[in-house]
This record gives sequence, C-alpha cells and structure tokens, in this order.
Amino acid sequence: MSRSVLVTGGNRGIGLAIARAFAQAGDKVAITYRSGEPPQELTALGVLAVRCDITDSEQVEQAYKEIEDAHGAVEVLVANAGITKDTLLMRMSEEDFASVVDTNLTGTFRVVKRANRGMLRAKKGRVVLISSVVGLLGSAGQANYAASKAALVGFARSLARELGSRNITFNVVAPGFVDTDMTKVLTDEQRAGIVGQVPLGRYAQPEEIAAAVSFLASDDAAYITGAVIPVDGGLGM
Ligand code: NAD
Repeated sequence: MSRSVLVTGGNRGIGLAIARAFAQAGDKVAITYRSGEPPQELTALGVLAVRCDITDSEQVEQAYKEIEDAHGAVEVLVANAGITKDTLLMRMSEEDFASVVDTNLTGTFRVVKRANRGMLRAKKGRVVLISSVVGLLGSAGQANYAASKAALVGFARSLARELGSRNITFNVVAPGFVDTDMTKVLTDEQRAGIVGQVPLGRYAQPEEIAAAVSFLASDDAAYITGAVIPVDGGLGM
C-alpha cells in the first residue's frame, strides 16, 4: 500500500531519515525544506521536494497544492520542522520567543490544519508531531523551545479527542539528543555532559527516531492516538 506522505523539514537530520524510511517502504513521499537544495539521495528515491517556509500560510497552501497534484491528498503527515534560539530568559527578546513559537507550534498548526482538509474527506489520516524530551523536562536556556515543544503535546491530544471519531490519529514522538546539525553546535564538553545523563550512554541516530514514526504511521498502530512516545535513551524517565 503506497500512501501519500509529507515530512516537513525533510532535507536533513531527523526529517531526512524519516523521509528515507517512508520512501524505502514504497510510499509516495514529499518533503518540504526552507533553504538550500534537497539532498540527491531523496531525489534518487523519487521523493518530491517542495521549498516552503512553514511560518508563511500562503507558502504552506502552495506546497500542499503541488503535493496533491503529484501524489494526491496527504494521508500521513510528519510535522518535523523546528528551530532553536537558545538564550537565558533575561537575554531572550520577544522576537527570540515569538519566532521559535511561530515555527515549532504555529507552523505545526498551519501544516496540520491544511492536511486535515484531505484527511477529513478521506475519513482517515495519521499525524505524527516531533516534539522533544526538552518539552517534557524543561531545559535551562531553552524556555522558548521547551514551551513550544510542550505545547505540541496539548495540541496533539486535543486533536486526538476532536478527530478520533473521523479515524485520524495524532501522536507525538519526543526524541532525546540526536546526532544532527541541531546538536552539532554543542561543545564536546556539553555533549559529554548530556551523554553522562542518558541511561543508554549515547546520542540517538536519526534512524532511531524514524523507526518510531514509521511504527505510529503503520497499521500496527491503528489503535494508538494521543500518545507521547519518548525515543530518548531513557533521559526523560
Ligand atoms: P535540523 O536543524 O537538522 O533540521 C530542522 C529542519 O526544519 C530543517 O529541514 C529545516 O529546513 C526545517 N525548518 C526549520 N524552520 C523551518 C521553517 N520556518 N519552515 C520550514 N522548514 C523549517 O534539526 P533536527 O535535529 O533534524 O530536528 C528535527 C526536529 O526534531 C525539530 O523539530 C527538532 O526540534 C526536533 N528534535 C531534535 C532533537 C535533536 O537532538 N536533534 C531532539 C529533539 C527534538
């Protein structure tokens, strides 16, 4: 069964691993990316890459039109795109706060709302949101990021209640520390400090997050909705 799958922020890191996993399973995959060029390996797998900034509703609408023309309505949405702007509270500008919320939370709202148009018509759909263990535990210097990621849990659980009767599931994956560009900015000392707190004693690979997402989108997860699945090496327990 080949489904129409959309992964936001699918050009690198966790999103790239998720897009690759769906494409290799035979799904019709589209990714959105904000800048740069889409990776060759995805193009070679037949993945449709659409440039789209999720802070702009008009770009989101255009991206969906392009994807629907190519693959039909989106049946599986993975809202993965996200940013950090880390700084301590007293140095955090309103712009630092608002831009993180506008991407991580409101951007997710924009893509989820648009995907649900087709999912309601089809009377089925799967939505997986990429939150973070930081949203559950909090993190000094990341109040904006943690707030946006915690909010995704309330958002998903509300929609799980609102749209369960329409056969649309909403689940959240909460990764711990994953080896991607987002965490490459950390110093060796910071990385060692983090790894020291992780029961499994290492960072996750992006493919380990993709495996949980693939499961939540599969038939085996048909009765799971409103769940928050940590993939964090035990960090958040
Ligand atoms: P990354 O920085 O490598 O990739 C982020 C992706 O989001 C990129 O594709 C980027 O183009 C996209 N993006 C950012 N702002 C966008 C916008 N306005 N419009 C469209 N796309 C936009 O990060 P990553 O580590 O792969 O993270 C992916 C997701 O996983 C993020 O939501 C992140 O918060 C979350 N996460 C990451 C980690 C980690 O340790 N790396 C841990 C927990 C959660």
